[in-house]
Amino acid sequence: MAEAIIPKATAKRLPLYYRYLNFLANSGTTKVSSTELSEAVKVDSATIRRDFSYFGALGKRGYGYDVVDLLKFFKKILNQDRLTSVGLVGVGNLGHALLNYNFRQANNIRISAAFDLNPDLAGTIQSGVPVYPMTDMVKQLKEQQIEIVILTVPTDAAQGITDDLVAAGIKGIMNFTPLRISVPDYVRVQNVDLATELQTLIYFLEHYGPTLKDT
Ligand code: ATP
Repeated sequence: MAEAIIPKATAKRLPLYYRYLNFLANSGTTKVSSTELSEAVKVDSATIRRDFSYFGALGKRGYGYDVVDLLKFFKKILNQDRLTSVGLVGVGNLGHALLNYNFRQANNIRISAAFDLNPDLAGTIQSGVPVYPMTDMVKQLKEQQIEIVILTVPTDAAQGITDDLVAAGIKGIMNFTPLRISVPDYVRVQNVDLATELQTLIYFLEHYGPTLKDT
């Protein structure tokens, strides 16, 4: 199957599909129809068929998609066949929760190094992850060839740390601070502002009520 450029919206749904296909494979299911998938992942089946056509996967009428084939392809495209090491800066409440979270189970991601300014934390191991002082951050990231970092520091520290991360060769930042950090073009930022997300949910519920379809 060709490695075509996949539309952003499709790429965003990949982990959803992947998780469900993994679940199917683990329960011994060998084929799945777009209708079944649609019900499970709450994406309409026409969108699923279109998404899958980008992967070169064409379901057979009356048969559906081959689960193992699809998984193999998704693994490759999502880099699931190799472990991705991620760094985390700021081991506060949120940072701790993320260190505890088992990314690995479904996604083959692990946080392999954490960093914090607090001397009580630096030099300790938290949830199995070594915490290094900030003075070691650039060196450790380079040595461990970490390219992705989760940022869970206070807002006022975010930009300064981001600049150091860029200098350390980081390619992607998952930014949990409300600050819209500035980075060069070649660095990708994914913003996760939990307070805003919750506010959006409340707003939508108040103004539009529940939705039944994911759009
Ligand atoms: P949160 O729930 O957002 O993690 P918190 O109240 O636990 O909040 P914050 O004050 O947001 O803690 O700080 C998060 C972590 O970031 C703390 O462990 C703190 O020591 C660390 N931190 C603060 N400033 C810096 C900095 N400049 N560089 C690195 N780590 C920092």
